[in-house]
Amino acid sequence: MKNKLSLLIGACSALAATGCTSPAAAPEHPNVIYVFPDQFRNAAMGFWAEDGFREHVDFQADPVHTPRLNRFAHESVVLSSAQSNCPLSSPHRGSLLTGMYPNRSGVPLNCNSDRPVSSLREDAVCIGDAFAQAGYDCAYIGKLHVDYPTPNDPEHPGHYVAEGQPVWDAYTPPERRHGFNYWYSYGTFDVHKNPHYWDTDGHRHDPKEWSPLHEAQRTIAYLKNEGNVRDPRKPFFIMVGMNPPHSPYRSLDDCMEEDYNLYKDQPLEALLVRPNADREREKAASVRYYFASVTGVDRAFGQILDALDELGLAKNTIVVFASDHGETMCSQATDDPKNSPYTESMNVPFLVRYPEVLRPRVDDLLLSSPDIMPTLLGLAGLDAEIPQGLHGINYAPLFFDGKSQRVERPDGALYLQNMNGEKEADGKIRTYFPGARGIKTRDYTLALYIDRKTRRLKKSLLFHDAADPYQLENLPLEEHPETVKDLCARMGRLLKEIDDPWYTENILPELIPYP
Ligand code: CA
Repeated sequence: MKNKLSLLIGACSALAATGCTSPAAAPEHPNVIYVFPDQFRNAAMGFWAEDGFREHVDFQADPVHTPRLNRFAHESVVLSSAQSNCPLSSPHRGSLLTGMYPNRSGVPLNCNSDRPVSSLREDAVCIGDAFAQAGYDCAYIGKLHVDYPTPNDPEHPGHYVAEGQPVWDAYTPPERRHGFNYWYSYGTFDVHKNPHYWDTDGHRHDPKEWSPLHEAQRTIAYLKNEGNVRDPRKPFFIMVGMNPPHSPYRSLDDCMEEDYNLYKDQPLEALLVRPNADREREKAASVRYYFASVTGVDRAFGQILDALDELGLAKNTIVVFASDHGETMCSQATDDPKNSPYTESMNVPFLVRYPEVLRPRVDDLLLSSPDIMPTLLGLAGLDAEIPQGLHGINYAPLFFDGKSQRVERPDGALYLQNMNGEKEADGKIRTYFPGARGIKTRDYTLALYIDRKTRRLKKSLLFHDAADPYQLENLPLEEHPETVKDLCARMGRLLKEIDDPWYTENILPELIPYP
């Protein structure tokens, strides 16, 4: 395939003098755009309330205005049960980029300057490396959040890019960009209307514009090749990491007023419609800003789709819409939106449009975070570029043909929660504590928590999702021995496959029969 591609690129180069410079000059492999806002729960897409979609899920859709996603869903393979296994920003992103679980991606914890234990592996062949290797022009736009921050501010050498301790934001120098030749990114920063980015040359930009809309415009400028930033003879791979609807979602500093106006006069009963949502929580009123952010992301995403249409690129471009994790939004008596095994934390949007190739439909594939990299490469016809030894599995054959026998469907997705290891004398964290492991199957969610000192079972969560989709009743393990036995057997097998610390340290062997 690579040979054919370079032949084609060569032929196109020869033609360049005679005008073969159009971005639509039909590369052999499709373009790919992966758009992933942060903390975007799967229920926050209006189409789940429509006929043709609602019968595929057992949850009530949020009453959100998402006209672009609704239309996009009708053109896409829509996964109803994609899972973020370690539903936290950096660990998910590490898995997304490497195709590995957090124990191998280099990113077991959220990245900040106190945690040298958590930083994307420099030696990993990441998704950008693989697409670049296949002859793609690769662009990263928006939030990255996988690097350990160091004092490497390109404009103030020897200084961090942000104040305070620990430092959260980070600058990613060229040698850590893993195949992305176009760069317009930052680590993590939550002032949504005053974002900043470092470009390919390390110059900082402070556009004072709501970040998703700014990133959409940057993506469109790249598509149009303004400033000659990409090689138009190559197919492109773009990742767009939008930050909203990530917190804060508490004022008009966080979202666009026109979007907020859609929700501002609606009573909380009309917005927090699920039976597990507690409208008395202090956080409840923030739902209006969260939904406004969802609607704004929908508009930004729509701008990218419109540009693909205008440029004649839509047909030969795979477009994915996903998120790094969900948002519990007043359920489960917690204000922590993520990092938990609850459906609303783990279940993420995953929509793939590939016109004339993928038949639009809803599929209940239990896709896991590490599966995304090999699956995207597979969808682009780049099976040969999928590195050996990944944790993730290429499920592209299932997208091409829902009945494919070439790849077996997973019968469970792992849940992983890691915490800081012991702080060392210099205040840094160089180990992590694997505090909880669990499994999500079609019918159940199980999570087991251990005590840091004794490594004995401290707490369990067991939900019969098929009968209790809002996870209102935590079932005692001892009352469901057969179910627990079956779930622990599946979990033990998966933990061994990924060489997880729970397997290597033989944690809870009385419950988990590691093979
Ligand atoms: Ca996040």
